[in-house]
Amino acid sequence: MKKNFKPIYFVIALFFLIPTGCTYNNSSSTDLLVNNQQIATEINPQTARTDCDTLVITCIDYRFALANQEFINNTLGLKDNYDHISIPGGIYNLVNPETRELLFSKFALSVKLHLINRAVIISHKDCGGYGGSASFGSEIAENETLCADLRTARELLIEKYPTLEVNLFLESLVKEGDQVRVHFEKIP
Ligand SMILES: [Zn+2]
Repeated sequence: MKKNFKPIYFVIALFFLIPTGCTYNNSSSTDLLVNNQQIATEINPQTARTDCDTLVITCIDYRFALANQEFINNTLGLKDNYDHISIPGGIYNLVNPETRELLFSKFALSVKLHLINRAVIISHKDCGGYGGSASFGSEIAENETLCADLRTARELLIEKYPTLEVNLFLESLVKEGDQVRVHFEKIP
């Protein structure tokens, strides 16, 4: 057995076992960082300031997460300039009296700590927080309810913070050929 041992094979095997810091192909996502290892990412120097302009409220739904980031950062131009509350059901929690105080209390922290003067609320269709599209009975009913809730949320926020600017958006998944895209609609 011993005479068949090839040191070169051992070296090659070892090479694939040693983490290189940039090759994660053989690791699950939970293995990306070993215990006590630290990583650092660069941030915009602007973020060293103590305040930001806007607080964004969205649902947690993963289907919209990437599109939301792109919409907020690029379309609205808010990169490095917003707080973000992501909660299941989004502003359903504000419209619903039972959970209203929870969202208001977190909102107040953003106002107090970061002096925000604008809120952007993004609701989405087929939201599990509402029971999904099916719970509305029709597309028109879903649209009307979600738009009404967005406007109610705006009224509630302005009642508490009269100088606050509140922008409302409704997003939905739209099938275009083989692709599914996220469409955003501004609600007046
Ligand atoms: Zn949702």
